[in-house]
Amino acid sequence: MASIAVYPGSFDPVTHGHLDIISRGARVFDKVVVAVLHNRNKVPLFSVEERVQLLKEVTKDMDNVEIDHFNGLLVDYISEKKATTIIRGLRAVSDFEYEMQAASINRKLNPEIETFFMMTNNQYSYLSSSIVKEVAKYQATVTDLVPEVVESALQEKYK
Ligand code: ADP
Repeated sequence: MASIAVYPGSFDPVTHGHLDIISRGARVFDKVVVAVLHNRNKVPLFSVEERVQLLKEVTKDMDNVEIDHFNGLLVDYISEKKATTIIRGLRAVSDFEYEMQAASINRKLNPEIETFFMMTNNQYSYLSSSIVKEVAKYQATVTDLVPEVVESALQEKYK
């Protein structure tokens, strides 16, 4: 049976940190579904459609990566995709508490689903979508932080 993993997140917008996790995940699993969350409490800068589009563009050369979006409970979506694993990235200790809580509740809801943590690449440990937006808002360069199409999309939003 093919191993399918889902990498859920806001991806508002996708950064080099996310891309690094996606490409490494794609070497571990037969297929990685990157799933953009709807219904978050935070007001996003990019719409779900825009985030999906940017993700599609930056992963277009990765054959076993699919981009999707979802609403509702993550474990239900995982079962719907016939996946068995959730991928999450860990940057610092500050990510740990939330991630442990999420992994525990997901295991309680469906013990068949495993959460797979990947440590950030050291060069991206400081990188988050929020930092990127903060920098781009003041017209500073985000060249090393995000792919080129994302940089252009950010310039368009903040112009
Ligand atoms: P969420 O709002 O669910 O945290 P994000 O888009 O911020 O969504 O992040 C999605 C996932 O990617 C999370 O597991 C997060 O820890 C991980 N991630 C974000 N930035 C990085 C990075 N620079 N390195 C490694 N993992 C990262």
